[in-house]
Amino acid sequence: MEVFLGNIGRKLNREILQFAYNWQIIRPVGKPVVFQIELTNHCPMTCQMCPRTHAMERPLGYMSAETFRRIIDQATQGTSGVFMHHFGDSLLHPELRELIRYATDRGIRTYLSANPVLLTKQRIEALVDGGLHEIVLSLDGLTSETSQAVRGRAARNVELAERRVRELISYRKQRGSKSPYIILQIVRQKQNVHEIPAWLEKWQKVPGVDRVKVKSYVTWDGTQEEINSLRLDPSEIDSNLVCDKPWTSIVVLWDGRVVPCCFDYDGINSLGSLQEQSLTEIWHGERLAALREAHKKGNLSNIKLCANCTDKEGYPVKRLTYPLNRFTQSQSGIGDEWRQE
Ligand code: SF4
Repeated sequence: MEVFLGNIGRKLNREILQFAYNWQIIRPVGKPVVFQIELTNHCPMTCQMCPRTHAMERPLGYMSAETFRRIIDQATQGTSGVFMHHFGDSLLHPELRELIRYATDRGIRTYLSANPVLLTKQRIEALVDGGLHEIVLSLDGLTSETSQAVRGRAARNVELAERRVRELISYRKQRGSKSPYIILQIVRQKQNVHEIPAWLEKWQKVPGVDRVKVKSYVTWDGTQEEINSLRLDPSEIDSNLVCDKPWTSIVVLWDGRVVPCCFDYDGINSLGSLQEQSLTEIWHGERLAALREAHKKGNLSNIKLCANCTDKEGYPVKRLTYPLNRFTQSQSGIGDEWRQE
């Protein structure tokens, strides 16, 4: 009953925030929604399309279990699901199982994006037995050469990565569990585009892979030329679109700082810190209100994070047709599935 009421409350909260976004209300009354929690920004990969490889300067570290629990306790009223990563591979976190279990037991679904080569037996058990809802596994090439070109030396052994995907499938089956839902993903870019048809043909046939996905390329905050240059297609996002992120969710870095969205790899637009404030204080605070105001006015030239962003998401707002406009004109999500014209 408690879980049922919690779910209704979270759905209601989402509607309150969507209403505020459509009408561009600067101080919405809704509860905070946490989109991502960064368990760590450590990662052995050196992916060519990741700003962590080229430009991240902040210190490396792991989120403490105490901070994680505090976030979940403060987020449960507004958040129905949370991504357990940001700019690192959370499989490296020593308390991964306990953290997944803590969120799951409080009615929050957990999602994770990870590198399959890191799926040791112990980590596979943590994911399945901890109750992870969904995992996205990145296999960015059919061959070791391509995988290494995209994700660096740590991803050079494609056979090992593939074996570990199969071990996860096998353990999930052994435990009689349907979760985590397993998505195998390739990010479409210059180095791997030639292998995508064969990659799809191979993985679509593997029993236990619940979905295969070709993800559209994103350029994050758009400031890194090495990353911009790997994009195959121009962004189709309308540059006049008001980004919905300042109204709909926030991201927490491993050290407790809060940032507006999944593109803020270096914490350049900090909205506050959970070491000093509560989630609710930050959600209703001056910095986030100022960010909403800047987006509302289209005055982003002084906001480094957003000024060059070409991958924002949302829909045309201030429409009397609301909520129809939300469903009929919504833009595809950040890095969502790539669709051939
Ligand atoms: S405009 Fe881009 S960088 Fe800024 S909040 Fe939206 S998605 Fe994030």
